[in-house]
Amino acid sequence: MKIISDLAASVAHEVRNPLQVTRGFLQLLAGRAEEKNKPYFDLASNELDRASDIITDFLTFAKPEIDTIRLLNISEELKKIEAMMMPMVAMHGGILHFSSQDNLYFYGNSSKLKQALINIIKNSIEAIEPDGRIEVKAQSEHDQVVVQITDNGVGMDEEEVSKLGVPFFSTKSKGTGLGLMVTFRIIEVMNGTIKIRSAKGKGTEFTIRFPQVYQDEILPDGISL
Ligand code: ADP
Ligand code: MG
Repeated sequence: MKIISDLAASVAHEVRNPLQVTRGFLQLLAGRAEEKNKPYFDLASNELDRASDIITDFLTFAKPEIDTIRLLNISEELKKIEAMMMPMVAMHGGILHFSSQDNLYFYGNSSKLKQALINIIKNSIEAIEPDGRIEVKAQSEHDQVVVQITDNGVGMDEEEVSKLGVPFFSTKSKGTGLGLMVTFRIIEVMNGTIKIRSAKGKGTEFTIRFPQVYQDEILPDGISL
């Protein structure tokens, strides 16, 4: 397993670099291209981004280990995620609403948490109608930091829910079926749990729980007792 995952990670790295260089040159050329040819450059860049996203997911799956674990404040993390998701909601339509209790701490890695939650929120955006609604809420419950993501989108039946996280399970024509697999891995590595409830035609609710760290347990240098 170790050899396979090292190999997968190095191949993914090696493929991602030339993709990024190619994208850079495409952008350069797009700036000098005739107006009628610009859409082709956009298409090419978008496809490169898609390839790069798939490789990022694959890389996380092959090597989910987290290098830096820090004390995270969920309301601050959600603020960053909100800023990143707003353009996508604006394009798709719908309401994305965030709310969070203050000073809720837990241990994790900020960029991995972002990746995990963004995969869930993206699915919600893709599941709702342009007048739909997504709620992202964080609160404390039984010594746990609980993050809930609820949408009133297409929903899933029991069989679909049971397939979530299985590599390549996707009902979308352009889906990769890697998003939730990565999310599940990340949450597991961060000692969290995830539960899903869904009803076809009604909507979906993801509930994620992390062990809460209380302020009186935090030493000045950020290490807990
Ligand atoms: P992808 O988004 O590439 O299809 P994911 O792993 O992110 O892959 O999701 C797998 C499948 O789970 C989706 O294709 C969709 O059918 C279903 N799904 C995930 N989240 C939701 C949701 N919020 N509402 C309805 N279906 C969902
Ligand atoms: Mg997805």
